[in-house]
Amino acid sequence: MSSEPDPETAKLLLKIEQLTAENEELKQTNQNLCVYRSGMKQKYELLDLKATEMEQRSHIAAENYLKMQDKISALEEYITHYEQEFQTIIAASQKENEEKTKKIMLLEHKLENNEHEERDEEMVDKVQYGPTQSYNKIPTCEICASEFNNQVDRNPRVLACGHTLCISCANRIAGSDLDQISCPFDRKITQLEGFGVSKLAKNFTVCQLLSD
Ligand SMILES: [Zn+2]
Ligand SMILES: [Zn+2]
Repeated sequence: MSSEPDPETAKLLLKIEQLTAENEELKQTNQNLCVYRSGMKQKYELLDLKATEMEQRSHIAAENYLKMQDKISALEEYITHYEQEFQTIIAASQKENEEKTKKIMLLEHKLENNEHEERDEEMVDKVQYGPTQSYNKIPTCEICASEFNNQVDRNPRVLACGHTLCISCANRIAGSDLDQISCPFDRKITQLEGFGVSKLAKNFTVCQLLSD
């Protein structure tokens, strides 16, 4: 064996050396790729996690959206219900108003008719009894049923209680008592202070209705 290899062997040895270097390079590249791949894997996992989170969020959002939709339809139903109720109330109040207006018109009509009738009655009275007040009844004493007059016998006299009777009846009721008289209508006492029935005042309102 010589120390110097033959050219063929040297060539092969060089080739081996080159290939070993290349292999080493490839190994390094492979290692780099492994690191890169692992980084990519981590990134991918992170993205996956984010995607899951986003999916969850979107799911919650979808649920919330459905809930909101439910709430909106409930509100819409509520509004529709109250709108209907409101319409019913408005219709009822309009009807009530119409009825009231009708009633008022009816009453006004009646009132007008009554006024006409009263005027007609007045006309009839005037035609039957003439333009004077002769158709007015002459007031009477409710005790003796006689018409009052301005003479001494049927002169209208008023008691302290406000009742009126003719002086003859007053005289008869008082009798011999000159101090007081008991009202025949309500038994109330009127003081005569010793003057008898001449103390009783005239009922001027009744006197004015008398002819003389
Ligand atoms: Zn009388
Ligand atoms: Zn009286």
